[in-house]
Amino acid sequence: MADVEEQWIALTRKVVGLYFVTHEYALLTSFISKRISWIGTLENEIYHHKNDILHFFNKECDVYKGEYKLSDEQYHVVKINDQTGIVWATFNIHASDLPPVSVRLSVVWGKEEEEWKIFHVHHSIPEQIQSEYYFNVENAKAAYQVMDERVKLAATTDSVTHIQNRNGFCNTVAKLRHEHPAQNYALIKFKVQNFRYINQRYGYSNGDRLLENIAKNMKQTCNPEETCGRIEKDTFAILYQFKDRESLNQRLYQLNDDLIDKRMKRKLFSEVQLLIGVYLIPKNSMESIPAMLDKALIALNQIDETQREKNILYYQEEMMEQQYHNNFILEQAMIAFEKDEFKLFIQPQFDIESGKTVAGEALTRWIMENGEMIMPNEFIPLFEQHGFICEFDFHMLEKLCQTLRRWMDVGMEIQPISINQSRMHIGEANYLERFCHIVDKYAIPHCFITFELTESAFVEENERMLTLASQLHQMGFQLAIDDFGTGYASLSLLSVVSADILKIDKSLLDGSEVNHRSYVILEKVIEMAHDMGMIVVTEGIETRKQLKFLRELNCDVGQGYLISRPVAAEEFKKHWLNPVIS
Ligand code: C2E
Ligand code: CA
Ligand code: CA
Repeated sequence: MADVEEQWIALTRKVVGLYFVTHEYALLTSFISKRISWIGTLENEIYHHKNDILHFFNKECDVYKGEYKLSDEQYHVVKINDQTGIVWATFNIHASDLPPVSVRLSVVWGKEEEEWKIFHVHHSIPEQIQSEYYFNVENAKAAYQVMDERVKLAATTDSVTHIQNRNGFCNTVAKLRHEHPAQNYALIKFKVQNFRYINQRYGYSNGDRLLENIAKNMKQTCNPEETCGRIEKDTFAILYQFKDRESLNQRLYQLNDDLIDKRMKRKLFSEVQLLIGVYLIPKNSMESIPAMLDKALIALNQIDETQREKNILYYQEEMMEQQYHNNFILEQAMIAFEKDEFKLFIQPQFDIESGKTVAGEALTRWIMENGEMIMPNEFIPLFEQHGFICEFDFHMLEKLCQTLRRWMDVGMEIQPISINQSRMHIGEANYLERFCHIVDKYAIPHCFITFELTESAFVEENERMLTLASQLHQMGFQLAIDDFGTGYASLSLLSVVSADILKIDKSLLDGSEVNHRSYVILEKVIEMAHDMGMIVVTEGIETRKQLKFLRELNCDVGQGYLISRPVAAEEFKKHWLNPVIS
């Protein structure tokens, strides 16, 4: 017998021992290939993923309890090639309290990173073992082929949507480009906006149904020389041919309607929107497919999600520069976070009538070692994109509470401070509990913390906001609608959400000075907010003229450079009781 065959038998003997005698499943899993396809005890017990197999082993732990001995061990080996062999093991298991059971285990060994790993296992307890039948070489080869095809398919197919996965998609793209070199191809990468939220709100099974729906319809939009696949989670890719940008654009505009069934949209996901990044592949490009996918992704990532109508972006070379810059900022930000370079600044808010400081807004500044200051617009959107924002906002909340506590401890009379919370928090499990826990850790009375959320969150996640608003109120926090007038909300929002404070965006104030319509809107907004019992804060007051004008409109509170820019927390404390303006 060849050396390698003996190795396979020795390894299988070891596996049988770990599996059936000592039940050391953890050790057993170290033998398993990353690409395993397990064919279990029962006909339909087929697992493709290592996690499922681990789960199976855990179940097996319950079955094979107690003391076991083996007898009549026999090992047969069939070499498929130098890299692959099948070993068939038969033996009887003797448990102290049970009659002996015959077991057949077939193991396919393959090379992975220079080590022998299990690629498939089939374990059965036949009524009667007919060894000639089971150990027939032809049968072994046929069984191997079936398994091999299954593995290859599993390696290129997505288990949720049953369309191509990233590997399958890349292979087909390479093949199509090779077969049709004269064609213009566009590589499209798209994702479902706020998919995480859809999963949380409608449940994971409905999230999966949405993905299946998209996958099914996406396939139908492709002609035979085009292809599509699921790249990861909620991200898909399509390779379309195109004649000109206009016709391609038309197909892309259609995608939102084509890919999600109307019924599904109506029933569950009325707000589902796709974000689409496009890379037009230069005809003779020698780039790798992953590099092309990255470019489509760069375009996708640069879509401004607050601009609902602009959900398609084409890749341009400058975006790569921007991406490098963003990556650089993000890397530096992580270091800066550790070094505590994010500082709490506060901008005073003053009573429009009396000029007295009545509150403040916490705003973050990144102050680098060399003293350079980086503004939030440079890093907050990146933190949002990379999911770091939630940790960050909690960190800044903690800083604010620490600071307020310090001031209270030296006898200062503190005022309510509002804190910006990213809309990414909405839907986070235990978000409010965590928020509350931080505030309570420093024993800050809840009425001193105002929760600011931008108006688009109120519009798009209306129902959730209603719940959040009522929870916040129960806990005694104030709620402010930020950036009102930036184009999202309608006046009716004010009657739906019970917020305490309405913050009017600078753009509405600026517009009112030059445009009569904006003036009327501003006037009506203030009136209506008052009718709803809200306090109105106007942001971005820079001139005395604006201040006078807001007085006329009965606005309650102002915030802007005219009185003060956001200042370091300690500086804010110094001027705390020094607020009068005339
Ligand atoms: P925002 O919440 O709308 O904050 C008001 C912005 O207007 C601040 O910009 C403030 O400095 C600026 N501002 C105030 N008065 C005037 C004025 O008279 N004229 C002009 N031109 N601007 C004025 P800032 O500090 O650059 O912050 C930008 C945005 O970043 C904030 O907009 C807020 O949405 C976000 N942000 C800041 N800190 C945090 C944070 O810790 N967490 C989160 N999630 N977002 C933050
Ligand atoms: Ca704000
Ligand atoms: Ca604002």
